[in-house]
Amino acid sequence: MADRTPWSLSGALRGMFQKRTIDDETWDDLETALLKADFGPTVTEQVVDELRANVQRYNTTDPKDLQRMLREAMEERLSKYDPTLKLTERPAVVLVVGVNGVGKTTTIGKFAKFLKTYQRTVVVGAADTFRAAAVEQLATWAERAGADIVRPQHEGQDPASVAFQTIEKAKANGTEIVIIDTAGRLQTKGGLMDELGKIRRVIEKQAPVSEVLLVLDATTGQNGLAQADAFIQHAGVTGLVITKLDGSAKAGFVLAVQEKTGIPIKLIGQGEGINDLTGFTPHVFAQNLVG
Ligand code: GDP
Repeated sequence: MADRTPWSLSGALRGMFQKRTIDDETWDDLETALLKADFGPTVTEQVVDELRANVQRYNTTDPKDLQRMLREAMEERLSKYDPTLKLTERPAVVLVVGVNGVGKTTTIGKFAKFLKTYQRTVVVGAADTFRAAAVEQLATWAERAGADIVRPQHEGQDPASVAFQTIEKAKANGTEIVIIDTAGRLQTKGGLMDELGKIRRVIEKQAPVSEVLLVLDATTGQNGLAQADAFIQHAGVTGLVITKLDGSAKAGFVLAVQEKTGIPIKLIGQGEGINDLTGFTPHVFAQNLVG
């Protein structure tokens, strides 16, 4: 697991936690590690101050106590939002949105597989109808995941009609979960938001939308967040999927993205393989982060 969590602080903090006692250097090391991991000056200062106060209150000099306190502080911050996927409707419709290149198609494949391992039946709708290659890529993922797929009948077919047909098929077959892929062409932001609005209206004539998942690439950091702003403003996003956490990602992004958007992280992607997607569990994340 260690090689798959480059965002973990445990390497940077190992020396600190192995010391015999908490000293002035400890606080400097902690501050440096948090800043390096992109938690930003505000969160870093808050966490360091909180831990200093706790160490004083509990009158401890044991770095192991500090490690536990740091883990708990991170978990508490990460737990402010509910990461549970709401998929109780039948069918449960999940719209997946995001800018091209963030890992949207890959995420849908992995998500279909994730749901299949929980014995859910899944159909994927390829409503990004202008990129023939994207449809093919999605079809390959769906096949790997053992999920059904509804493709456009011709390139450029109205995305809303593909979404409509996907839900029709789910209803006819009693399929439990519908995942709709959508376009992510950033250069046509206004048009894209109108298109998403139309897809949503058409879907809602047949079934409620259970989740709108926005896919964000952790390696692009705050810049990626700025690019995704239109989705946050206009697409009714209910959850975030953070991809590429196996890359050069910094853990601070995960915390910052929830606090900045107020939207819970629901899934995290940590690799290009079909099994490299997991639910977001603050307890596990904090454990991996701090050790
Ligand atoms: P889309 O344009 O948003 O649909 O992006 P794709 O799904 O085509 O993914 C773009 C690239 O990111 C591909 O090379 C994927 O293999 C890669 N990718 C997606 N998710 C992850 C991840 O969690 N980790 C890593 N390392 N690569 C990923």
